[in-house]
Amino acid sequence: MNKRLSSHSATMDLVKKHGFKFTKSLGQNFLIDDNIIDKIVDGAGAGPGDKIIEVGPGIGTLTRELASRADKLMAVEIDRNLIPILADTLGDYKNVKIVNEDIIKADIRGLIDENLDGGPVKLVANLPYYITTPIIMRFLEEDINVTDIVVMVQKEVAERMNAQPGGKDFGALSVAVQYYCDTEIVAKVPRHLFVPQPNVDSIVIALRVRPERKYKVDDEALFFRVVKAAFGQRRKTLLNSISSMGTLSKDGVKEALLEAGIDEKRRGETLSLDEFALLSNTIGSKLKETVK
Ligand code: SAM
Repeated sequence: MNKRLSSHSATMDLVKKHGFKFTKSLGQNFLIDDNIIDKIVDGAGAGPGDKIIEVGPGIGTLTRELASRADKLMAVEIDRNLIPILADTLGDYKNVKIVNEDIIKADIRGLIDENLDGGPVKLVANLPYYITTPIIMRFLEEDINVTDIVVMVQKEVAERMNAQPGGKDFGALSVAVQYYCDTEIVAKVPRHLFVPQPNVDSIVIALRVRPERKYKVDDEALFFRVVKAAFGQRRKTLLNSISSMGTLSKDGVKEALLEAGIDEKRRGETLSLDEFALLSNTIGSKLKETVK
């Protein structure tokens, strides 16, 4: 079976053949557009030597195009009702391993060791929207050997990941993603290119994971606490939002901001990642001084 699956009729034929019922709560909106599939595969630069992990293969539409270019592919699908369909659509692809697990609970590193020779891997997926951020953050924060994350996500989430300081979309997610990756919009995808049609539009975004850290952060946990506090109360000035962390006294925060050369009246969304790094490093040194 080498025909593409990415048309409304091919998808519905398979669904009917297997008596499959869509589960809305699992974010089951299947892509039915060749052009977007090609953009995802090209955006991932899928080719010989690549080991790919796909989260949520659905009926295998994207999986087949990726598997025909890459060396090895592991597809992690939570819905056991899709496993017989995947056996049908991917049976001819000997380089594909299907794993019936929940990606949030799975031992991702163990699975990569077992099925993808330990990586490095590319994560490529049309993600279930209800868990987009936890999936991406698992790959970035845990010690997973991933070089590229090329994923379809809800338009607004992609815009937040790609946002620059000063804009309304810039927030804790922008900082978290850009701390590890360079971001790039690959394609805009209107809602009518899915079955069933979701009530949001989508964007394919590429996150290129940097091999080395770009920002000089002394204490990552403190950095992310500062970021969380700065965006937690967006309308507060930095002096007030950072003071509410309770880590340093208000006077201590005032001094830290002064030392970092950051106006205390600014708001979190105006700070660049370099400034967040500088501020958290300054707060860190002040904390050490206080302890001495
Ligand atoms: N890749 C297919 C496509 O592009 O047409 C399907 C994408 S659909 C948006 C999301 C897929 O993720 C569904 O197949 C759904 O069952 C699966 N899924 C949802 N939650 C999951 C989880 N926690 N772990 C693994 N797969 C999950």
